[in-house]
Order: sequence, then structure tokens, then C-alpha cells
Amino acid sequence: MHRRDRNEHGLAIQALRGGAYDYIQKPIDRDDFVAALQRALHTRQLRRQIQEQQRALEQYALSLERLVEQRTRELAVTNAAKDRFLGMATQELTSLHTNWKAVTQAFAQHLQQADGVEKVRWRLEDMRRSIRLMGRLAHDLQDISLIQTDGLVLHRTRCDLVDLCQQVLEEDLAGTGAAATFEVFDAHLEAEVDRERISQALNHLLSNAHTYSSHDTPIRVMLRRAGEEAIISVRDQGIGIPAEHLPHIYEPFYRVAGIEVDSSAGLGLGLCIARTIVERHGGRMEVQSSPGQGSTFSLVLPLLRTDERECTADGISSR
Ligand code: ADP
Repeated sequence: MHRRDRNEHGLAIQALRGGAYDYIQKPIDRDDFVAALQRALHTRQLRRQIQEQQRALEQYALSLERLVEQRTRELAVTNAAKDRFLGMATQELTSLHTNWKAVTQAFAQHLQQADGVEKVRWRLEDMRRSIRLMGRLAHDLQDISLIQTDGLVLHRTRCDLVDLCQQVLEEDLAGTGAAATFEVFDAHLEAEVDRERISQALNHLLSNAHTYSSHDTPIRVMLRRAGEEAIISVRDQGIGIPAEHLPHIYEPFYRVAGIEVDSSAGLGLGLCIARTIVERHGGRMEVQSSPGQGSTFSLVLPLLRTDERECTADGISSR
């Protein structure tokens, strides 16, 4: 090889090693030129692909970052709910414990006195109330756990809602001694429901109506039809709920702060449980409330359609 050619050849090898994929030797050889052009195009294409992949990776990293932020926010909310729950559970258990301790100490003292039996009887009522509250807390916790683990099973049967409401009202009267009125605007309202669970939801609304209103104000339970739905409403003239709290009252463990009412023991689970029960029946809950005026909570349930009324068999179970 000629010295000058050897130099050029060496230069070409050096350039190619250095990454000059579009190096063209002179004099220009057509095949070399086409090959260099193809190499250049290919490299440019690869570079574009790498840039696109880099952009996609950056997008992915961004979406991951947002997901982590969202999950962190959700965890903070769950953690706050857990803290609220622990705070309330501790408070309720402490107050029950204090109550039971005081009652048993009083028992011991009364039994040494002549009129002790009468006093013990009176104290026993206190004890019963406490035990009822304890039972309610335990049931609420059991239900919320079932709901959260998707273990709430409904046993639906064809049911006359007038009859269901009447039964709940009778039990309420026996338990509280305070009568709520019952107004039926449409008779023969039938739905396919889990009787016990719907009774539980109505019972809770009644219990709240008693808790959050004074004894001398009326509580009305109303049953009416609206199209293909039945509406069971519980209206009280109690303390009402400030508007800013309304969006939260169905959240688990939510209680309106700053309200001191007698026998208010509860973990803020009742409305959450009632709403879940109604929604699992394909219905919904509604509320109207204003402070100082009272509240109306309604269970809205789908009625049996005429064709279903004609041929439904009892005893259907569903989850
Ligand atoms: P709890 O089981 O502790 O009573 P709920 O889930 O039933 O809790 O209710 C949540 C909160 O909504 C209550 O702590 C109370 O502040 C408010 N609330 C519910 N019902 C009524 C009502 N009828 N009148 C006024 N406030 C109510």
C-alpha cells in the first residue's frame, strides 16, 4: 500500500473507532457512501428510540412518584382514622371500666345497709345500661370488620316494610320508654331485604334520634313510596348537624367534635354500618339536618317490582 493511502486508511480506522460512523473515505466509493449513510440513519433512529424510551421512563418515574404520594396520603388518612379509633375506644373502655368499678364498690357498701337491696336494684339499672353500651361497641366493631373484609352476608327475603318498621318501633319503645310516632303514607310496600340488617339500620337511626335530641321533643318515623323506591325516614328535632360535618358523618370512626350528650357512647361506626347495609340492598341513605332544628335520616330501598311480587319465592340469599 502507498504511504499516503496507508495514512488515510489508519485515519479511517481511528475515526471509526472514535465513533465516526459516517466517516467517508475519499475518493468516494459508492458502496462505502451508501453503507455510511445507512449507518448514520440507523444510528439516528437508535438515538431517537433511546430518547423516546428515556421520555417514557421519565413519565413512568413521575407516575410512580405520584402514586407513592397518593398512597402516602391514603396511609396518613387511614392512620389518622386508626388513631381516632384508638382514642375513642380507650375513652369508651376507660369510662365503662370506671362505671363498673364504681357500681361494684357501691354494691359492696349498699349490701351492708338496711335498705341496701333497694339501692342495689337502682344501681343495677346503671350496670345494665353500661352492659348494653359494651354490647353495642362489640357489635359495631364486629360489623365494621365484616364490612372491611367483605364478609357481610345478606339473607334476603320478601318483606312487608310496614310490618318491619312497626316491629322496630315496638322494640325501641321497650328499650327506651320513649315513643316515636309512626306515619305510613303508602301501605303494602314490599321489598326483598335482609330483615335483621334493615331493622338494625333503622334501629340505629332511632337510637341516634333519641341520643341527639331532648326527651320532650317528638321523633317521627315515616314510610312512603317514591316511584319504585320505599323511603323510611326518622325525623328528630334535636341538636342537628353543622353543614361542614355532613359530608363526613358516614366515615368510620367519625363523630362530630364538641358534642356532649348523655349516653353518647359510640365509636362513630353506626351510620357507616347502616349506610353499607342499605347500599348492599341497592339503596342509599339521605340526610337533611341543620343545627338547632333537627335531622331527618332516610333509608331509601328499592321496592319489589310488580312482576317480582307475582313470582318471587322467599328465602333467597345473596352476598
Ligand atoms: P355513633 O355510633 O358513635 O353514634 P354514628 O355513626 O351513628 O356514630 O354518627 C356519627 C356522628 O353523627 C355522631 O357522632 C353525631 O355527632 C352525628 N349524628 C348522627 N345522628 C345524629 C342526629 N340524629 N342528630 C345529630 N347528630 C347526629
